[in-house]
Amino acid sequence: MLENYQVLIGLEMHCEISETNTKVFSSAKNGYSDTANVFIRPLDMGFPGTLPVVNKKAVEMALKASMILGCKQPEYIYFERKNYYYPDMPKNYQITQETKPAPVGIYGELKFDCKGKECTAIINNIHLEEDAASSDHYSTFSTIDYNRAGVPLLELVTDPCFHSADEAVAFLETMRSIYQYAGISEADTRKGQIRCDVNVSIMDKDVDPTDPKNWGTKVEIKNVNSFGGVRDAINYEIERQIELKEDGKYDEMEQQTRRWDEDSFTTIFMRSKVDAIDYKYFVEPNIPKFKVSDSWLESIRASIPELASERKAKYMNEYNLSEYDATVIVKEKPISDYYEEVISLGGEPKNAANWLTSIILGHLNKTETDIKDLFLSPKMLVDLMNMVSEGKISSKQSKEVMYKVLETEKEPNVIVKELGVEQISDDKTIRDIVVRVLDAHPDLIEDHRKGKNTFDFFVGQVMKETRGKANPSLTTQIIREEIEKR
Ligand code: MN
Repeated sequence: MLENYQVLIGLEMHCEISETNTKVFSSAKNGYSDTANVFIRPLDMGFPGTLPVVNKKAVEMALKASMILGCKQPEYIYFERKNYYYPDMPKNYQITQETKPAPVGIYGELKFDCKGKECTAIINNIHLEEDAASSDHYSTFSTIDYNRAGVPLLELVTDPCFHSADEAVAFLETMRSIYQYAGISEADTRKGQIRCDVNVSIMDKDVDPTDPKNWGTKVEIKNVNSFGGVRDAINYEIERQIELKEDGKYDEMEQQTRRWDEDSFTTIFMRSKVDAIDYKYFVEPNIPKFKVSDSWLESIRASIPELASERKAKYMNEYNLSEYDATVIVKEKPISDYYEEVISLGGEPKNAANWLTSIILGHLNKTETDIKDLFLSPKMLVDLMNMVSEGKISSKQSKEVMYKVLETEKEPNVIVKELGVEQISDDKTIRDIVVRVLDAHPDLIEDHRKGKNTFDFFVGQVMKETRGKANPSLTTQIIREEIEKR
């Protein structure tokens, strides 16, 4: 049935800025703690008489995100009050930016990759606001934790520009990567740092999707907290709306807000457009507007580091990695940073990528370890790679060493000694053995001269005496030299 329809999806993505020291309007620490209410100042609890002070760093990070998204930055920055009552918002309003005066970013476009296809996201705006506290509900009571109250939050709003759940999720993954690479946020969904609202509508296949007149009724799904949830919620909603169409009930459907229920795997009705809340926005009187100077913008622009897309291009063009390997490495910034360090320590790029994408990432997945906690440092990996290139161990042995290093958390050189796999690359040691082997088989040297293949036998004897540790190419060379001499 899907083939008879087109889908239109818009996203609102909230992402906490985790990389400032303090909150957006107070001097409380911006951090995560398992202990409730430890990172709080009177302002975060809405005490009368407290006044907000704008965190310059948070504004700079917001402007940085705005630039990366190709948005226009405003001449002045204002904040506004969004008025509502909820226990997690003790002062009864949230300080945010509405589009009327000017958010930190207005209208931009971002190219992103979705399964090899280049797509364009249309950014309506990006704005800076404060996060609310978080509440936990128990059977007879609820608790509120104000640690999160006032954490800087970026809200990004797109136009309805995505046509499938895959495209929407690919965009969200691109944004997560941008936030991480730009040093704005860890963007960790497991820590609740990203929350999404999704709006979905369908229309007939044969109509012009760029004409808003043809758009169907928009259904908004609130507070989806994982990318998997976004995918499932969109797919569920598309199916639900198509069913309404096919049953002739679609035209009765009102514009509405629903929520994604992870337990039942369905969206559940919350409210319709007629119950929409009027937030009575007005300019926040306690924060004077302030000018965004060109020189300030320039210095922020200069601070934008190399992003995933640029690293990926570098890996493919300069290091000759396959697109697949480059994609795997840049996907998580800590992994790409690890790789960059290996290269800076002299690791051969292609070889390093092989180690990383095969054994190391496999080990991290299997043991659910963060690369930051990996025992094998970039330096140790380079040491191991050098042992192979210097002929100390064979490449086959290096794998065995690697597995042991990961398993036992001992340094590669220690493991090499313990396993006794160190190659013999000492000329004299090998030559002594070769001379002995040749002395014992003068007849076979004769056979060799007559063109019979007895060479492999000599190599085999040397390997037998050294228990396979003789450097093979050096052994071959010395046998040749010693036969020549006779
Ligand atoms: Mn918001």
